[in-house]
Amino acid sequence: MSTNKVRVRFAPSPTGGLHLGGVRTVLFNYLFAKQNGGDFILRIEDTDQTRFVPGAEEYIFNTLKWCGLEPDESPLHGGPYAPYRQSERKPMYREYAEKLVQDGYAYYAFDTSEELEEMRSTYKTEANPSPQYNHVLREKMRNSLTLSEDEVRRLLSEGAPHVIRIKLPMNEEVTFTDLIRGEVSFHTSQVDDKVLLKADGMPTYHLAVVIDDYLMKITHAFRGEEWLPSAPVHVLLWKYLFGLENMPQWAHLPLILKPDGNGKLSKRDGDRLGFPVFAMDWTDPRNNEQTTGFRERGFLPEAFVNMLAMLGWNDGSGQEIFTLDELVKSFSLSRVHKGGAKFDYEKAKWFNSEWIKRLPIASYRDTVKTFFDAKGIVVDDKFDHVLELVKDRCTLLSDFVAQASFFFQNPVEIDINAVKPKWDEKKQQFFAELIRAFELTPQWQHDDLEKEFKEMAAAHQIKPGDLMMPLRVMLVGGKFGPGVFDIAALIGKEATIARIKHALGLLS
Ligand code: GLU
Repeated sequence: MSTNKVRVRFAPSPTGGLHLGGVRTVLFNYLFAKQNGGDFILRIEDTDQTRFVPGAEEYIFNTLKWCGLEPDESPLHGGPYAPYRQSERKPMYREYAEKLVQDGYAYYAFDTSEELEEMRSTYKTEANPSPQYNHVLREKMRNSLTLSEDEVRRLLSEGAPHVIRIKLPMNEEVTFTDLIRGEVSFHTSQVDDKVLLKADGMPTYHLAVVIDDYLMKITHAFRGEEWLPSAPVHVLLWKYLFGLENMPQWAHLPLILKPDGNGKLSKRDGDRLGFPVFAMDWTDPRNNEQTTGFRERGFLPEAFVNMLAMLGWNDGSGQEIFTLDELVKSFSLSRVHKGGAKFDYEKAKWFNSEWIKRLPIASYRDTVKTFFDAKGIVVDDKFDHVLELVKDRCTLLSDFVAQASFFFQNPVEIDINAVKPKWDEKKQQFFAELIRAFELTPQWQHDDLEKEFKEMAAAHQIKPGDLMMPLRVMLVGGKFGPGVFDIAALIGKEATIARIKHALGLLS
């Protein structure tokens, strides 16, 4: 193991919104770095210009910021190994690719796309429907392994379009130790001769990831399990270019599975199954397709991060609620599961409701207010008090609107049918008198209101319980909400009386 300072990287390609699996990769990188006094680097892997999506990079920065997982080095924050955007590092990569060719580990390939297409259709069989450019077929193609040296020199000097491909050894076992999976082996006959440098001089991900991990002195590389099949190519490149010296330790994180455990949770599943899979709202600029985010659904970043940490990890004690600081202390790679982690939206919401209860209102009042603003509900200076009263009833930050809008405006609808069946003349009289008594109440305080109400109920010989529900429906619009006298006290004398009057009108 290297004794260098721990340096980890999150290396996304800016191709769209960040899926929760991506944010979990960020989180595990971050936790490991902070736990070891190391650096967390954000590197943008944008070498595939055809997949570049405008706005995706800002989205990544904003997501990390929202989650409180800010990198130490990035295209935004700068750092000693800048630039942190691979497209800006383009000139660095060619010399490494050329060196691989000189050393016999890579070769020039001049095949046109038509020739590649022809190869695929000629060698296609039922058993092998998509033949790959590999140790067998490279012998049949136009490359520096099959053409004469003179011919290669001529093509290069004429500027013939070409790529550089890795020359996978025919019969070798590539083995490395994954921090989560232990020893992992691949047989090179199963791996194709991946392109390392494209015709436009841009490296592919495979070459760039290895060179940048080397140049940026990355010690540990955490990434999703979907990258495991690429690992042998990366290990071979490390061997050919740097003699495996200071190769990062790999950790391939388990997949996040659909709630029923059937396969990987994909970007499309969220909207199909009714829950978000992206961290924040994302609008694809290519087709204007919108995808909902956890943030806009009303998740707190503390809950989102906590929930992600538990997707594939636990500390063994049964504790489920963790602050980020606690996660930094408790996280250990040895307790990350190998198997996929099922995503459970109900559980995610449970984390959120717990965090709503735990955090001070001040930490989320502004976000909650945006939900009121969006509905055109104007709040006033009792806002914090109201949020405190109803927070135990809210699972999502957006729930505050339904739970509290009646504090700031008359209920839009009154569920009068909840009251009607048991309504009678006696009750009608009680409320008419209550209005008069409330009008004269000098102190508009919870305890005084409750006392007055109960005394009057006793005088009318009606059980207070039979009157509280109607009063609640009159003030709130339905059978929900915090204590009814808390509500009356907060909305004030005028609104309380007006709402009772309005409801009596509906009932008579
Ligand atoms: N650019 C790759 C991605 O988009 C990074 C994989 C890795 O971390 O090596 O996920």
